[in-house]
Amino acid sequence: MSLDALLPSPVRFLEGRLGRLRAPESLARYEAYFEERGKAISEAVDRAGTPKLLMFDRFGTRIDEVVFPPAYHELVRRAYEAGVVFRAVEEGDLAASYQIGYVTSFYDAGLYCPHTVSLSTAIPLAKYGSAELRAKYLGKLLKRDATVWQGATWMTEAKGGSDLGAFVETVARPDGERWLLTGEKYFTSNVGAELAIAAARPEGAPPGVRGLELFLVPRRRDDGALNFRVRRLKEKIGTRSVPTGEVELDGSEAYLLGARGQGVYLVLEALNVSRVCNSIGAVALTQRALHEAWSFAEGRVAFGRPVAEQPLFARQARERHETLLDAFALAWEAVTLLSEVWRETPRYSDRYHLFRLVAHLSKYWTAEVAVQSAKWAMEAHGGAGILSDYPVERLFREAIILGIWEGTPHRQVLDGMEVVEKKRVHVPLLDGIGARGGNAIALAMARAEVDDWLTLPAEKKEAESERVFSRLAATVARELRRATL
Ligand SMILES: Cc1cc2nc3c(=O)[nH]c(=O)nc-3n(C[C@H](O)[C@H](O)[C@H](O)COP(=O)(O)OP(=O)(O)OC[C@H]3O[C@@H](n4cnc5c(N)ncnc54)[C@H](O)[C@@H]3O)c2cc1C
Repeated sequence: MSLDALLPSPVRFLEGRLGRLRAPESLARYEAYFEERGKAISEAVDRAGTPKLLMFDRFGTRIDEVVFPPAYHELVRRAYEAGVVFRAVEEGDLAASYQIGYVTSFYDAGLYCPHTVSLSTAIPLAKYGSAELRAKYLGKLLKRDATVWQGATWMTEAKGGSDLGAFVETVARPDGERWLLTGEKYFTSNVGAELAIAAARPEGAPPGVRGLELFLVPRRRDDGALNFRVRRLKEKIGTRSVPTGEVELDGSEAYLLGARGQGVYLVLEALNVSRVCNSIGAVALTQRALHEAWSFAEGRVAFGRPVAEQPLFARQARERHETLLDAFALAWEAVTLLSEVWRETPRYSDRYHLFRLVAHLSKYWTAEVAVQSAKWAMEAHGGAGILSDYPVERLFREAIILGIWEGTPHRQVLDGMEVVEKKRVHVPLLDGIGARGGNAIALAMARAEVDDWLTLPAEKKEAESERVFSRLAATVARELRRATL
């Protein structure tokens, strides 16, 4: 009995869900690369653990280089060559970029982080950078060969990442056409990147998120000197295919993106792009977990027949497979909506606010599905599931991080329900799915539950928000799949 012949291949799975893909030959080559070489490199990088930070060259000059084996750089580069950034920014084809991200994450969810933060750097630069800044830097992020530059997104500081308005203490001082940033960034993934976007507060700006601005920070100044210091690399349980560091800014040269007063919107736009990446990555990891579990269960014999044929196990696997398809429908809806609205600038359209809700639902729900699926895949392997000898335990280590970066589950719930409260976007969302063939009764029940929640007093509303939000996510995912079918 075969659960789904498409499970072993991310490209075939995408074709099964979407029909014709954006760049099918390139995607097939990318998948073949992983099967032939990339998978082994990725496993070696994970086993090697935290890479080395080489802070000085032999003459004592500060260089802050992250030292990986050369094969790592080949692994990271492949997605840029396939178009994870240039297809989105140069060709305006976000779907193509997210399809590449899906294939990456099936093999290595942490590896999609460098590509994600590069995309989240290139998009605000393309949208909000001055003509001079774009001419100087954008082309470097869009290259299709080994000389491609990478990006990074620096928001979180040591006191906390959820409440950026309270805890971003990095200060920006004007210095002619540019700015000088001083402060510390506590979680900086892809820390070896040549460019970063960073949240900082100009001197004298008001407190809270409204006083934040978004800046572009190059790794090197024009004279070649390092523009900031990397204090150390984080020791992480997973996502070792991306080095995450702590960065010290000390009069670091930076360039304002957008007009003064727009920063909070730019920060949130960048986060929304990467939340969709996170969703896509979470679904791909879920597919991989199910594939690993099912292929093991087909080979493992207990009580006289393969575990895959035991009724209880087969039932669990079928249900997980249904959830995978629901999760894909939800994540892909986020991609589709973002493709429509990503060029918008404030003040945003109603469609943009609808996208925001779907992005929060999708980030929240797919990350949870990924964790649960990875846990189940470990259980399905029995004791072998917790051994570092086999790929499945790594899936859990990677999955658990998907819930936290790009905003924790609490953040997704509270921000998602804020859009509901302020813009009532659950109405067009549910109506739209109904018009496309979703189940009218299920959608009406979801609407009633949200409408009831809206009538609660403020404290109770916040306390009850996850219950309503998680059910809304599950219904939207299931009915979107039904509508897609
Ligand atoms: C591997 C890794 C890589 C990362 N890379 C980057 C990066 O490149 N750039 C970057 O900017 N950040 C990065 N981060 C940071 C990440 O975005 C933050 O960890 C995340 O946003 C949460 O911030 P925090 O860790 O400070 O937790 P806190 O904000 O301190 O939150 C602690 C807990 O309190 C909860 N909480 C907060 N407010 C509420 C509320 N109102 N109601 C209920 N619960 C609440 C949170 O959900 C969380 O559970 C990375 C994190 C990890 C783990």
